[in-house]
Amino acid sequence: MIRVTNLTKVFHGETDVTALGGIDLDVSAGDIYGIIGMSGAGKSTLLRCIALLERPTEGRIEVEGIDISTLQGKELTRLRKSIGVIFQGYNLLMQRNVLGNVCFPLELDGMKKADREKRAMELLEIVGLQDKAKAYPSQLSGGQKQRVAIARALANNPKILLCDEPTSALDSFTTKSILKLLQDINQKMGVTIIIITHEIGVVNAICDKVAIINYGTFVEQGEVSTVMTHPVSQVTRTLLGMKESEE
Ligand code: ADP
Repeated sequence: MIRVTNLTKVFHGETDVTALGGIDLDVSAGDIYGIIGMSGAGKSTLLRCIALLERPTEGRIEVEGIDISTLQGKELTRLRKSIGVIFQGYNLLMQRNVLGNVCFPLELDGMKKADREKRAMELLEIVGLQDKAKAYPSQLSGGQKQRVAIARALANNPKILLCDEPTSALDSFTTKSILKLLQDINQKMGVTIIIITHEIGVVNAICDKVAIINYGTFVEQGEVSTVMTHPVSQVTRTLLGMKESEE
């Protein structure tokens, strides 16, 4: 579904910052793929490159075999629609109510008002917020705001959902319910999910595969069950909270 080859991203400034130093990643259709690392490791930059929000300095990102850097015009628009993104800060439109937020991408797509409202209500039902359609983001809890963001990200029937620290601002109970929702979306709608996080609990809760990122490179990647039981790198052991003596 997604193949990343030798992805490099250098931010140029007074001093250059190599945020990604040659990333290789293979995500299969139906995966929930976790990318975990400490703050500043390059997680957001990687996600932003896959989401076409950041241009790689070097390397290749293919989605279903197509190099996304070669796309233009309608093909690029189609690809953008096939990738939904959610963020830690929800990024909702505060002046629009919940229905208006979920309708927004459909409006941009030129869908008629009655059709987009019908579709938005279906999406709100999926995320369990049909009774909040008229509420404004300021009237919602963090978990509810993230549910609105998820409904909006699903509006165009994406094949891929990219999640940037989706539960970092939430308490543990709400985190569980949001992760369960993402798991349901993956299983029932067949959406491939990449989730970036600094919390090992998120990976253990819903991911099938995981990559551990440190200073812009993957130090380890594979099935969650294998990586968690037989971590090979010190960074993974630190994330797992293991001490040297427990090796
Ligand atoms: P993470 O999401 O793991 O916290 P980021 O991808 O945000 O890490 O950042 C990786 C590195 O790239 C950090 O050193 C950060 O300071 C740097 N960085 C990220 N975005 C920019 C930018 N727009 N300009 C310059 N440096 C950046």
